[in-house]
Amino acid sequence: MSNPKIIAIANQKGGVAKTTSTVSIGADLAKTHGAKVLIVDMDSQGHSTYSLIGESKIGSINFLVNDDVSMEDVVFETGIENLYIMPNEKKIMGQKISLDKFFDASQVTIFRDKLEASSITKDFDYIIIDLGPKIGDFDVTTSLTAADYVLIPTKVGTLDMEGFTEMIEYVNRVKAVNPKLEILGIFFTVVDKRLRVSKSISTLREEFEDLFFENTIPQNSKFLDLAEERKTIFDVRSNKGATAYQFLVDEILERIEARESKERRPEARA
Ligand code: ADP
Ligand code: MG
Repeated sequence: MSNPKIIAIANQKGGVAKTTSTVSIGADLAKTHGAKVLIVDMDSQGHSTYSLIGESKIGSINFLVNDDVSMEDVVFETGIENLYIMPNEKKIMGQKISLDKFFDASQVTIFRDKLEASSITKDFDYIIIDLGPKIGDFDVTTSLTAADYVLIPTKVGTLDMEGFTEMIEYVNRVKAVNPKLEILGIFFTVVDKRLRVSKSISTLREEFEDLFFENTIPQNSKFLDLAEERKTIFDVRSNKGATAYQFLVDEILERIEARESKERRPEARA
């Protein structure tokens, strides 16, 4: 059995649809592609936990901090077949926990080490990590240290563009401890096709050819109440958001396949 592909969804901006994308991409991989998927909620806001299972007293923080807690203890089923979650417990004994209090930089591989030591890690085809927004926080760095790929959702607009330049630099720094880490690409979310600024997408795509995904996620009011109702976009009848995520997932899988087949043929590297 092969190892799961580990994908971190990252951007230091809030509200760029990191969580929505984590849940939608995870749900599509499970539903359409029959993959066994684990979503890891590393964001102390616990939004992906909330949208899939509500709340949990035990999750990713306990897994990292407490050596008596195994991965089996913190992986839960969701309402979707083949989709599992390692929730974020937000608080332990009423206290909000910051991993930075428990670990220092020398322990940055802890998440990777714990995943590698766990016998159920190999049961998954994909592990998708929903991250909080703070670059440099321990939860983000240890997640990127465990990941194979980074996906960056972004909104259109100049400030957000600065954001992903920073993100790229951060990923390059993490490569010192995790050389296999690669940015799989950037995709645009909440795209209002009527706005002029959305035209800049095509300019950017010309400039940074490989970096941007062809598929974008349209702005769609159907995304707004999903978490409250414990639904994913695939539970909402006929909507463009669901189709857009399906196309994006197809493109993500093509990119992964292209990179991994290159690795299998070392002569093609030159
Ligand atoms: P992040 O995790 O980056 O902070 P979220 O996924 O929580 O972002 O999304 C922020 C807000 O935007 C949420 O209220 C979500 O429902 C909404 N949203 C996400 N994607 C879309 C979209 N394509 N169209 C409209 N609203 C969206
Ligand atoms: Mg979020």
